[in-house]
Order: sequence, then structure tokens, then C-alpha cells
Amino acid sequence: MSPDPAKVLLIEDEPEIRRFLRVSLSAHGYDFMEEETGRAGLLRAASNPPDVVILDLGLPDAEGLDVIRELRTWSKVPTIVLSARGQERDKIAALDHGADDYVTKPFGIGELLARLRVALRHAESSQDGGGPSTFRVNNLRVELANRQVFVSDKELHLTPTEYRLLTTLVKHAGKVLTHRQLLKEVWGPDSVYETQYLRVFVNQLRQKIESDPARPKSLLTEPGVGYRMVAENNEEPKGC
Ligand code: CA
Repeated sequence: MSPDPAKVLLIEDEPEIRRFLRVSLSAHGYDFMEEETGRAGLLRAASNPPDVVILDLGLPDAEGLDVIRELRTWSKVPTIVLSARGQERDKIAALDHGADDYVTKPFGIGELLARLRVALRHAESSQDGGGPSTFRVNNLRVELANRQVFVSDKELHLTPTEYRLLTTLVKHAGKVLTHRQLLKEVWGPDSVYETQYLRVFVNQLRQKIESDPARPKSLLTEPGVGYRMVAENNEEPKGC
């Protein structure tokens, strides 16, 4: 709830996208900065620290992946990656190297604005020393402080692994977590390739928390990348 507008730094070489975001984000009250290259973007981020970075993965002078890697050596600024289709591997690598989220081109402004709000909210709650202790989405309620989970006010019994998986997703609600990040967090660093664990436990969890496990509304699949728990106030864009 800062009275100042949030500062957004866009690092992107395509003039049309820069123009589109300059107009849209300024109209939505953001303080907008832009750079065309990875180098200039990093310099700008260092000299005038933004509240959130939007980073194109294909830049003329650097891979977005290298930019995020360098940025993460000195900054925790929330970073949303813009990627073209077919950059799946780069997208996953960027998330694994500390990007917070991604938006695939072409994208709608509604989707990007929703991601920006999630990123800024996460940054705020991690400054407060870790978000609210109760998480609600759809008919799911997770009480982190007393480790209780409810669906439509009925308490659920989860196995320790199901609970760990659920709370990992909840703590990053609204953000995509890669298979690797989830496996590392829930099963430990030796298990990052055991994607079948994840499939099994995500299915189990959906049986318990989703009203229609075949059409999940809370625990969403990000095809080829990972999973995402819908953000608390349902800012997920509609449609595909
Ligand atoms: Ca580009």
C-alpha cells in the first residue's frame, strides 16, 4: 500500500512491445522505465532500482537468462520474463535461476497486469516477514500457523508430503513453480528429476482440494513447466 506508484523497468528490444507497455502501464499508474539491451537494463536497475522488472529473454546483446543470473547476484527485485513460444527451455531455466514468473508472447495486458500485481504483492509480503497466515482460494482454506486445511469448512487430512506440496504452492500463490523447484522444495535436492513423484502427489492433492479434480480451479498445470496455485483474490486471467 505504498502511496508512490510502483516503478517498472522493461528490458526489451522490440519497439512495438516497448511502446505498448509504455502506454498501457503508464495509463495504469505505473512509473515506467525502459531499456533495449541487457547491459543498459542492468545499469538502470542498479542506478534507479525498480519495484519490478519485465525482462525479454531474447535480447540483442545478452541472453535474458544471463541477465537474470547477474541481477540475482545483487538484487531480489521481482522479475517477470517475457518469452516467445518455443522458448520453453529458456523459460524454465529463467525460473530456475530466480525469475519469479513468465508471460508468453503474444500476451494480453490484463494477464501482464495480473502478474505484476502478484509480483508486487509477494515482494511486499516478504518484506513484512512472510505473508498472511491464512490463505483462501475458491473453497480451499489453508491455516499455515496451525497447519490445518479446509475445503468448504470441512477439515482435510493430508499426508505430510501432500501438506508440504500444498503449502509450498500456497506460499508462492499466483506464481508458477517449475517441476524442479517443487521437487527440490518438497523432496529435497536429490530428487529434482523425479517428476513422477510430482504427478502422483499433485493428483492426490487435487482429489482432496478440487471439487472437480479433472478440471482443477485452484492447483493449475502450467504445461511443460510446472504448477501454479491460483492467487488468493482470483486475479487469474480468464480464457486461454
Ligand atoms: Ca527480443
